[in-house]
Amino acid sequence: MSTLPEIHHLINGKTVAGGSRHADVFNPATGQVEKRVLLADKTTVEQAIASAEAAYPAWRNTPPLKRARVMSNLKVLLEQHADEICALVTAEHGKVLGDAMGELQRGIENVEYASYAPELLKGEHSKNVGPAIDSWSEFQALGVTAGITPFNFPVMVPLWMWPMAVACGNTFVLKPSERDPSSALLVAKLAQQAGLPPGVLNVVNGDKEAVDTLLTDPRVKAVSFVGSTPIAEYIYATGCAHGKRVQALGGAKNHAVVMPDADVPNAVSALMGAAYGSCGERCMAIPLVLAVGDAAADAVVAALKVEIAKMKVGPGTDASNDMGPLVTKAHFEKVKGYVAQGIQEGATLVVDGRNVQVPGHEAGYFLGPCLFDHVKPGMTIYKEEIFGPVLGVMRVKSLQEAMDLIDAHEYGNGTCIFTRDGEAARYFSDNILVGMVGVNVPLPVPVAYHSFGGWKRSLFGDLHAYGPDAVRFYTKRKTITQRWPSAGVRDGTVFSFPSNR
Ligand code: NAD
Repeated sequence: MSTLPEIHHLINGKTVAGGSRHADVFNPATGQVEKRVLLADKTTVEQAIASAEAAYPAWRNTPPLKRARVMSNLKVLLEQHADEICALVTAEHGKVLGDAMGELQRGIENVEYASYAPELLKGEHSKNVGPAIDSWSEFQALGVTAGITPFNFPVMVPLWMWPMAVACGNTFVLKPSERDPSSALLVAKLAQQAGLPPGVLNVVNGDKEAVDTLLTDPRVKAVSFVGSTPIAEYIYATGCAHGKRVQALGGAKNHAVVMPDADVPNAVSALMGAAYGSCGERCMAIPLVLAVGDAAADAVVAALKVEIAKMKVGPGTDASNDMGPLVTKAHFEKVKGYVAQGIQEGATLVVDGRNVQVPGHEAGYFLGPCLFDHVKPGMTIYKEEIFGPVLGVMRVKSLQEAMDLIDAHEYGNGTCIFTRDGEAARYFSDNILVGMVGVNVPLPVPVAYHSFGGWKRSLFGDLHAYGPDAVRFYTKRKTITQRWPSAGVRDGTVFSFPSNR
């Protein structure tokens, strides 16, 4: 019998232990199993869906302002409990505490935006669309909605989804990543403390069995997913085949273009954070630099080498560290495998982070920053998402060559350009086939009142995550046309199509 703490589910406002299987939850900085998470079986997920369905009628009819007030209360509670939440993120994900704070703050901003839902749900009204006829469109909730989230932003990505969903009058079942589930669960408990009635937000921990139940149960009307592209594609196809509205955000391989006129020291500072922050485990990370011209490439590689030498790798709990461990042993081995493959395929390994030593944490999943030069389009390290602290520099001759490469890539999540040339920047941002573009901004992650999403195989579905698109995703439009004829007025029968002809 294990004595490890066990992480359960939150269903109808209560902690529930459902399912007979479990997964180990590791501390990636020590390599030790610290907790076990129960993996919900079909029956447990169905219980969560039933709880969300039962809570829906009353919640849907709760005045939007009262629903929004829960979000305002939650914002305060999240700020008060920030240290506790971020400690859980660092303990299970490994990222440094300052980075966890940044993630939480971005999540809080989504809660803040959800508190404006009454304004966002106001709809449209037109008077006299015909003789004494008025018409309006309103945005009604869908019912039970669900979210499935990845390991890399265990607090923020759930907050992209459920606050706006419930602020719009839906109820929700969240399935966080089984690798680092505790922070999302704590946030859900704080939401109850903030005034969210039981059943409005349910959390089931689990794996494919839980996900498949959410995807196929007819009571679930919409599914939001964030994770890797193969799973995103599966979620989209399966959810749609079961009649649901689905948005499925997938993987990425974001390129940064460095133009010959770029301010190299500024570009390199920006690239360091974008490539190695959170150990490269961000869907908006920059794993590739396209340097235009050999002079720019040489300057960037030389400056990166200097900056990398200053980096400190170690446990995320130590505020002096810049980079923590990778999330799991399997992922650690996979990323190291990519480094070996890059060498084998002919790229030049300028900085090798594979032998990094973190005294006292020998069993942790620490990989130091790695830097390749002379990466070429056919290489595996160019094509595939590595999701680790591995930055590759490619040398191209022109902006157009850089743009052709970016456009031809499977993914289209984010990209950026470093330049002082406004014309080049404008041409790039106008024409590049990528959903989120930065100009001298390495991580162009939209703020909470814009929406987030990539193009190509980085997103399946039509609407982006959070921001105004989330209001559309979690509601359906209804248009009502109304006429109150004056007493005594008789309408003749009209067989022609009603119009203002
Ligand atoms: P993942 O695809 O392995 O897992 C995501 C979720 O899907 C988890 O909740 C997991 O339990 C579930 N899942 C995994 N395998 C499944 C299966 N076979 N059937 C059903 N459900 C399954 O992703 P991850 O490793 O947790 O996260 C990293 C990935 O997420 C990267 O590819 C990253 O680019 C991507 N990501 C994308 C965005 C974005 O906005 N586009 C944001 C963050 C992360």
